[in-house]
Amino acid sequence: MEPMTRRSFLTLSLRLATVMGLGASAAPALADALERIVRGRAPTLWLQGQCCSGCSVSLLDSEPVGADALLTRDIALAFHQTLSGATGHQAVETVDRAIAAGGFLLVVEGSVPMDMPQACFFGEEAFGSQLLRAARAAKAVVAVGTCATSGGIPAAEGNPTGAISVPEFLRRSGLSVPCISIPGCPAHPDWIVGTLTHVLGFGLPPLDDRGRPKAFFDKLVHDQCPRFADYEREVFAEKFSDDGCLFRLGCAGPITKADCNLRLWNGGTSSCIKAGAPCIGCAWEGFAAKRDFPFYLKNGQLQPKPKGHA
Ligand code: SF4
Ligand code: SF4
Repeated sequence: MEPMTRRSFLTLSLRLATVMGLGASAAPALADALERIVRGRAPTLWLQGQCCSGCSVSLLDSEPVGADALLTRDIALAFHQTLSGATGHQAVETVDRAIAAGGFLLVVEGSVPMDMPQACFFGEEAFGSQLLRAARAAKAVVAVGTCATSGGIPAAEGNPTGAISVPEFLRRSGLSVPCISIPGCPAHPDWIVGTLTHVLGFGLPPLDDRGRPKAFFDKLVHDQCPRFADYEREVFAEKFSDDGCLFRLGCAGPITKADCNLRLWNGGTSSCIKAGAPCIGCAWEGFAAKRDFPFYLKNGQLQPKPKGHA
């Protein structure tokens, strides 16, 4: 396996600088920040609550810095529940050491079970208690994935755990530590890597009123959609595999802010809509919140039309 080079850091950083609106001159600073994460010189603690680890898996798709090199050999996060080698009491001690040292960037994946603490334990400690200790010692918190930013599937109506989001947990705990929200089920690897490098290279990125980095979540999926012209002409798909706008099949693009259609997924290959599937609103704060949340609709209109459209 080839070691990562300054060139590979710069390649990624140039792309990140462009999409974050920083300009090419910011690339070296972003490359430094990325290198600090990867070399373990930027203390970062990654904790997982109620989640499926999907955002960690998504991070493994980070390009062009290869995920295998990034995470199995080069990266030295203080701890990552899924990816770190430590288990059992070693894992508990590693996290406790990191928390005692303080001053780290705390990344949290998953929601917090308030009504059923036993639903999520780390060692012999309830996740909520561990999160509280860690957040008190952190410089900033980054909530990754819709479970962490809005509650997501663990907080769906009827769930018995009383799952809440990380920002809501911090609010109820009276903590004012800065918190950035990166929604998505899962979050795109660029959104994670770009936000972390911005925090380390330049401080907090510009955020919207929900704490989301504007660079990634400023526009609706709908606004950057390759089928937008069909929407305007009212050419609608009536069934999957039809050409045309997917609005009548339940597309949530008009209410979901994310740059999926611009950035594309899987190393820039495609997006949900490019692949013929409606946006299911995985980065929307209402994703899976209601018991009858429809992932798809057949021949029915789910979402209100965006403002300005009759
Ligand atoms: S409704 Fe969906 S498919 Fe149609 S233009 Fe908007 S985002 Fe694209
Ligand atoms: S297009 Fe919609 S469902 Fe697909 S990844 Fe983006 S926000 Fe999620």
